[in-house]
Amino acid sequence: MITSDIIKDAQSFLMNTYSRQPLVLVKGRGTTVYDSDGREYLDFVAGVAVNNLGHCHPRVVVALQKQAQRLMHVSNHFHIEAQVALGKELVRNSFADKAFFCNSGTEAIEAAIKLSRRYSREIIKKDRFEVITMFGSFHGRTYGAVSATAQEKFHQGFEPMVPGFRYVPFNDSKAVEAAVTDKTCAILVEPVQGEGGVKVPAPGYLKALRKICDEHQLLLVLDEIQTGMGRTGRLFAYEHEGITPDIMALAKGLGSGMPVGALLATDKASQAFAPGTHGSTFGGNPLACAAGLASLEALLEDNIIIQNVEALGKHFMDGLRSLKAKYPFIKDVRGQGLLIGMELDFEGKEIVTECLKQGFLINCTVNTVLRFMPPLIISKEEIDQLIDALDGIFQKR
Ligand SMILES: *Cc1c(COP(=O)(O)O)cnc(C)c1O
Repeated sequence: MITSDIIKDAQSFLMNTYSRQPLVLVKGRGTTVYDSDGREYLDFVAGVAVNNLGHCHPRVVVALQKQAQRLMHVSNHFHIEAQVALGKELVRNSFADKAFFCNSGTEAIEAAIKLSRRYSREIIKKDRFEVITMFGSFHGRTYGAVSATAQEKFHQGFEPMVPGFRYVPFNDSKAVEAAVTDKTCAILVEPVQGEGGVKVPAPGYLKALRKICDEHQLLLVLDEIQTGMGRTGRLFAYEHEGITPDIMALAKGLGSGMPVGALLATDKASQAFAPGTHGSTFGGNPLACAAGLASLEALLEDNIIIQNVEALGKHFMDGLRSLKAKYPFIKDVRGQGLLIGMELDFEGKEIVTECLKQGFLINCTVNTVLRFMPPLIISKEEIDQLIDALDGIFQKR
C-alpha cells in the first residue's frame, strides 16, 4: 500500500486520539528507523523512552522468536517460567522483594494505588486511602492513573475523577508534609517528571519524601515508568538519591517494545495482595516476559550501556547549552542521563517538523519543551549531528 493511502485509511478507520506525523515507520535497527518511502531517521524519541536498547536488539528478537515457537500464552492459574525469571531478575537488581506483572504503565499505576489502599487497611489497620501526587505529573490514562495525574488537561470532559487524590507542587517536600492527613496512605511521584516537561527535582527531594513516609507510615510509590531501565544513568533513578521506595511502577523500557508493565514492592507492602485481590489475563504473558528478561539481561551484561548514559547525557546537554548561549529564545536545558528537555519561549511543534524533514525524530511536550530520549546506545557523533541540525534550524528563526 502506498504511504498516502495508509495515512488516508488511518484517518478513516482509527480514532482521532493522536496528532500523528505524516509518515509511516516500517523498520528499525539500532538508533535508526526507516519510513515506507525508504527514508531514514535518527531516533531521539525511541518510542517514548521504550527502545532503550535500540530497535530490534538481536537478543530480544531471538528470545521472542524462541518463545513464540514454544508457548505464547497461558493463564496465570499456572506457573509461567519466563514470568518467574523476569520477576527474579528485577528483584535481584532493585530494592524490591516481589513483582506483579501487567501490560502497560497505567496498569502498573492502578496496581500501585490499589496496593497502597489495601496496605493501609489490611496491614497498618487504618482506614486510609488518599494518595498525594504532584502538579505536572503524568501517571497514565485509565481512571485511577489519570485521577492521580495532576494536570487539568488530561481530566477535561472525563470528570468526575476518582476521589482520594491530593495534589501539591512538585519539588516541594514541605507542601507534601502539609498535605498529609489521617486519610493519607501513600505519596506517588516521578523521580523526574517526563511528560510534564522534563522537570528534575533538587537533590534531597526524594529523601525528604522518604522521611515523611517513614514518619507517617505511608508508602513511597515511585513512578519509574519513564525513568527506569537505565534511562537516567542508573538502572533505576532512585539510586541517584540513596533511598529506596516501597513500591515502584515500571513499563516503557522494560520490554524493548513488547507491552509489559510491572509493579515492584517490598515484602511488607506486597502482603496486602492475596489471591483474588488483583490480576490481569495478559499480565506476565510468556512473550512479554521473554522480551523483558532478554532486555534486562542485555542491559545488565553489557553494563557499559548504562555506564555510558551519564557521559552521553552530559555531552548532549553541553551541546544544547552551547545553543542556549547563542539563541535567547532557549529558556532552559535540563535533564538526567538521556532524558533531556530544552524549554523554548515559543511552541516547539515547528521545530519537531523541521527536524523530521532533516531526518531526526524528536518530541515536544507541554507545548514548549523539546524532549530528547534516544536509545541508550546512541553515539556522541549521532548526538552532534542533531545539535548541528538544531543549530541550523534555530539560525533561520
Ligand atoms: C508513559 C507513562 C505512563 C503511562 O504509561 P502507559 O504505558 O502509556 O500506560 C505513566 N507514567 C509515566 C511517568 C509515563 O512516562
